[in-house]
Amino acid sequence: MSVTQRLTSADAIALEDKHGAHNYHPLPVVLHSGEGVHVWDVEGKQYYDFLSAYSAVNQGHCHPKIVGAMTAQAERLTLTSRAFYNDVLGRYAQFATSYFGFDKLLPMNTGAEAVETALKLCRKWAYEKKGISENAAEIVVCENNFHGRTTTIISFSNDAVARANFGPYTAGFIKIAYDNLEALEAALSNNPNVAGFLVEPIQGEAGVYVPSAGYLSAAKALCEKYNVLFIADEVQTGIARTGKLLAVDHEGVKPDVLILGKALSGGAYPVSAVLANDVVMDVIRPGNHGSTFGGNPVAAAVAIAALEVVEEEKLAENAERLGILFRDRLQAYVDKSELVSLVRGKGLLNAIVINDSEDSDTAWNICMALRDNGLLAKPTHGNIIRFAPPLVMTEAQLLDCVAIIIKTLEGFE
Ligand SMILES: *Cc1c(COP(=O)(O)O)cnc(C)c1O
Repeated sequence: MSVTQRLTSADAIALEDKHGAHNYHPLPVVLHSGEGVHVWDVEGKQYYDFLSAYSAVNQGHCHPKIVGAMTAQAERLTLTSRAFYNDVLGRYAQFATSYFGFDKLLPMNTGAEAVETALKLCRKWAYEKKGISENAAEIVVCENNFHGRTTTIISFSNDAVARANFGPYTAGFIKIAYDNLEALEAALSNNPNVAGFLVEPIQGEAGVYVPSAGYLSAAKALCEKYNVLFIADEVQTGIARTGKLLAVDHEGVKPDVLILGKALSGGAYPVSAVLANDVVMDVIRPGNHGSTFGGNPVAAAVAIAALEVVEEEKLAENAERLGILFRDRLQAYVDKSELVSLVRGKGLLNAIVINDSEDSDTAWNICMALRDNGLLAKPTHGNIIRFAPPLVMTEAQLLDCVAIIIKTLEGFE
């Protein structure tokens, strides 16, 4: 069978179900192509994408500039490994460090790998710079975090499904309540072994939990007070999604360690990175860490193009403006709704909470109806539906989408 032959949706689902491991529970829709804010299924039905591959496709599907950079580079040189230099990585590192304002970049591929990299970097800094004794370093993390799916990362998750029967777990993490400065100060103040505080500026997977205004800047100040690295996981919130280049920019916070992924490639290719200044990054020396594909020339070319698109098309400004409009319109609906208890978010990272128990299937059924009405979204944590369209959306398209969402919700009141 040729991969160019069109399958029906039912065939594609059956094949994946039979031959692929069942580690996801996808909405039953089989996508064949995409452009900008739209995707099309194998039967040709058009949808608005309101997930954007968990905010990887901020620049829109198949952005011509990103695809162009990728194909041009792929035809010239795809992979050298870091055993040799390639002529794109240096340019990318220079571009990205000046773009985000750090001295150095460490390139990886997936978000989870970049989080792992940040944890290793933090521990090594703790032993070599802070003077914590061997194997004693601890990293503070938050309840209901999502940082990926490696063995170490699930060790400090409290998602039972992601953890069960994957032990033994990695030690060295302290979990505290999110958006709680007293808990953070208590964790830092009487423990000289704390090396870092790993935090999502908005908890995306947990259901788009936006912390109180001032939380991030006060948390950063506490980290400075106790000589602890502030590590921002901006894999989902970064790169214009929340209406600023980074979500920490809303509070003028400069992380010690910045973790990026997802939209760093505009969804074209797995590209992630850790950024830090020399005082932290210079603990990494040859042989300490690496990845065969990390920093490959295709990734580097794609990331430069993806970041240029964000700036050229003013995606942060667009996300900020359309996000306000989206929440205004949805809030007006929520005010008179029995079904939806609230809408929250920043920029174009938003969610509604359905007024039903966490284990009800109402949110799933609403997403199925949204699909039938031409808009794709996915429940996160039972009764929460995240709405995160590509940031290249126009105001007219957004209003069209608001109409689809409200019409669909009305059917469930
Ligand atoms: C998606 C995500 C990750 C993991 O990225 P992968 O590319 O799936 O490994 C890590 N942190 C946050 C905040 C994420 O949203």
